[in-house]
Amino acid sequence: MNIGFIGLGNMGAPMAANLIKAGHDVTGFDLVARPDGIALASTASDAAKDADVVITMLPNGTILRAVAAEIHAAMKIGALHLDCSTVDVDSARAVSQAAENAGLLAVDAPVSGGIGGATAGTLTFMAGGSDAAFAMAKPLFDIMGQKAVHCGPAGNGQAAKICNNMILGVTMIATCEAFVLADKLGLDRQAMFDVVSTSSGASWSMNAYCPAPNIGPKSPADNDYIPGFAAELMLKDLNLSQMAARAVDADTPMGAAATALYKTFVEDEAGLGRDFSAMLPRFSARSRKDS
Ligand code: NAD
Repeated sequence: MNIGFIGLGNMGAPMAANLIKAGHDVTGFDLVARPDGIALASTASDAAKDADVVITMLPNGTILRAVAAEIHAAMKIGALHLDCSTVDVDSARAVSQAAENAGLLAVDAPVSGGIGGATAGTLTFMAGGSDAAFAMAKPLFDIMGQKAVHCGPAGNGQAAKICNNMILGVTMIATCEAFVLADKLGLDRQAMFDVVSTSSGASWSMNAYCPAPNIGPKSPADNDYIPGFAAELMLKDLNLSQMAARAVDADTPMGAAATALYKTFVEDEAGLGRDFSAMLPRFSARSRKDS
């Protein structure tokens, strides 16, 4: 396929590289990044105009809407706009509608798996869009990822992503505060892990990404909390979850609490640039009176 790829940052560049490796013709565009090994166009519309599929991997919904307005006007009728950015549900739905109005197919397919998954081609895609649009994107998902779930119509990929990450933020905080309580009760961290990871408190945060150093499988905690998944990216996703919850009047008190805690951590407590599991040393350094 002829593929346009807009947004060649930490995630986009390795995803585009995997498509090239699989034999696709990729023309990229980024305002700043100039990764090696990818043919670059001088504008987004130039990267889009001959493409069967245009992939966008951009920072937020405002930028996505602006780029979409530009590329939709340039794309061939029947081509697919595959957006893999993490953005608000409203922007995803608006961009999908705009694509349809322009005679295009559209899929919103945010990813889980981070830079490691993007490089290894093992991302998970959560996709929203029509059956025809999903079918057109599927071979590309198979190259860039290990799993793609069709979650329903436009916007549902973003909905799945923010619900998943709201659970992740909440369970990571719960796991970290429980470790600190265990410490203060004199419970050994290894014993805590051995019990919880095989009991009803188990979660991905405990079992696969344990926030306590040298416990469980290797994780950013074993590397001084260098991300991994940075706290500010968790905050971004939690903010999106709360924006969506407000829009549809969903009561999400734990999501709201996790959002507030990560906001404080990132903005006031030097959490910026640290892994999101660094909530454990954050709680360790505090006393109950701080709350
Ligand atoms: P990034 O900041 O490294 O890359 C974004 C790129 O978009 C940058 O290179 C920037 O120059 C480019 N860009 C911005 N505006 C543009 C425009 N108008 N036209 C063309 N290019 C433009 O971010 P990233 O880490 O690659 O993340 C991309 C998306 O993937 C985000 O929505 C993020 O939330 C999501 N995501 C990231 C991770 C991760 O671990 N990094 C994991 C899952 C999802």
